[in-house]
Amino acid sequence: MKDMKWFFPDTLTEVDELLKNGYKAHGGGTFLVKTALNTDGLFDLSRIPQLKEFGISGGYISLGSALTYTKAAAVLESESAGNFMSKALSSAAACPLRNRITLGGSIYAAPKWSDLIGPLLASDASVRLSSSDKPSAVSDYLSDKKLRHSGIITEVIIPEANIAGGYYRFTQTHFDYPMFTITVSMRGNEDLSCCITGPASGPLVLKGKRAELLKSATALPDFNKERSLSGEYIKKRAEIEFVRLLNITGGNKNE
Ligand SMILES: Cc1cc2nc3c(=O)[nH]c(=O)nc-3n(C[C@H](O)[C@H](O)[C@H](O)COP(=O)(O)OP(=O)(O)OC[C@H]3O[C@@H](n4cnc5c(N)ncnc54)[C@H](O)[C@@H]3O)c2cc1C
Repeated sequence: MKDMKWFFPDTLTEVDELLKNGYKAHGGGTFLVKTALNTDGLFDLSRIPQLKEFGISGGYISLGSALTYTKAAAVLESESAGNFMSKALSSAAACPLRNRITLGGSIYAAPKWSDLIGPLLASDASVRLSSSDKPSAVSDYLSDKKLRHSGIITEVIIPEANIAGGYYRFTQTHFDYPMFTITVSMRGNEDLSCCITGPASGPLVLKGKRAELLKSATALPDFNKERSLSGEYIKKRAEIEFVRLLNITGGNKNE
């Protein structure tokens, strides 16, 4: 096994140099431990004060990319009680993991079981990168390989008005990777923006009036077989849970 070099930068200028040398960022390290590391060195982001800042301004909640799920959930909850994003982050994995997993590492890795990606896509969140002052939509960041490799994520920017709504994660046991997640973001009484993660084709974003979405909820894309469950079962279950969440999120709780 080759020796791994470790670096502990204090500034983003040092990060730029380390990236140029081909070294990789280390957020919480929970994904890196599962990855074949094709690098000679890792740089830890936890000592850069800027990446742990947070605040709210002009209707946007800003979260530093080195914040953990635990800290980000607490910040979001204090800014907007009962929002779906803090609910999603506080139900992911288990407490010791939530104390390590960072926002930046989770967006870059974007695993299929992520509890963060769905809420970010449904709320039209964006990220700021060390390579640019201009924020990029999370959807663009996820689909644009060049953008992903242009720099590290420094900040996550979430429109505060878009995080009211509901969240559901489908697991067989509480501590389990979700096979799918559903986020419903309310943009007005009947205008909704939803994201379903888990389909074989990748996360699905649907926007529209509740009545239109209820129709599309019964025709989701296919899901792969997972663990003991068939793709057909998971898809049917996702359709049922989507209809249920659409009905109870700001709608008729008795439906
Ligand atoms: C047993 C287990 C269960 C889990 N369950 C869940 C779950 O239910 N829900 C959930 O959402 N997550 C879950 N996770 C976490 C998820 O699988 C990833 O491990 C996690 O999201 C990665 O975040 P990290 O901060 O640890 O990233 P790291 O492992 O530090 O890094 C991951 C990748 O991102 C890059 N990176 C790190 N920081 C940045 C940055 N700021 N900008 C750009 N690139 C960066 C790294 O170079 C690396 O390539 C679980 C993890 C484990 C181990």
